Amino acid sequence: MIVLRSQRELDKLRRAGEVVAKVHQRMAELIAPGITTLELDRAAEEVIRKAGAIPSFKGVPCPYGGIDFPGSICASINHQVIHGIPGKTVLRDGDIISIDVGAILDGYHGDAARTYPVGNISQEAKDLIFHTEEAFNRGMACAVEGKRIRDISTAVQEYAESHGYSVVRDFVGHGIGTEMHEEPQIPNYRTAERGPRILNGMVLAIEPMINIGTWKVKVLDDKWTVVTADGKLSAHHENTVAVTPKGPEILTRLY
Ligand code: MG
Repeated sequence: MIVLRSQRELDKLRRAGEVVAKVHQRMAELIAPGITTLELDRAAEEVIRKAGAIPSFKGVPCPYGGIDFPGSICASINHQVIHGIPGKTVLRDGDIISIDVGAILDGYHGDAARTYPVGNISQEAKDLIFHTEEAFNRGMACAVEGKRIRDISTAVQEYAESHGYSVVRDFVGHGIGTEMHEEPQIPNYRTAERGPRILNGMVLAIEPMINIGTWKVKVLDDKWTVVTADGKLSAHHENTVAVTPKGPEILTRLY
């Protein structure tokens, strides 16, 4: 678990975070009916490499024995929750697509996900995207010294469930720093344990994955793509956040 010791370390994380934010800026420009997820992946990698950074996701070994992850982004459409592999799939009007991206710059990682509308989407899908971002905001508001990791988890779950959604249990947020996944785990549901106390200088990837139907998920035969068990829509919102004496600071943004 990283606890920042210097302004220099925080600045490095901000710069890595900004690369990730630039990728999302590019994704927002490109996402439209007719584009493939592979085209999005190539555009994302170009932004990352031009910044002198390295895609964090590319080459990550598969936890279920599949191929190493081939993309710079995860591209997860509609009922796909996370870890969709970029490929020939063409985006269609009315889809939603979650893009997750990580980058390493100067030894530090940034990691952020957004769910984007493709063309004109249903009100149901718009609401899901809105409330997923708001669930993130509620969780992030608890990322302050003296609270517990479970306070973040509880805030996300209570917000999502109060709006009739479910939270994915099988995948969680995480500490981040010189490694993409560090301690502590940050579930999006209230756990039996209180979890670690939050300290200034901690850097956390808070990432609610919110479903319209059941919280249950399954992994497809490609051994990467996670989908909702009932085929209903899912959305994802993630930022890398530093805990500071002034409050939580989103690092995956444009400076
Ligand atoms: Mg993450």
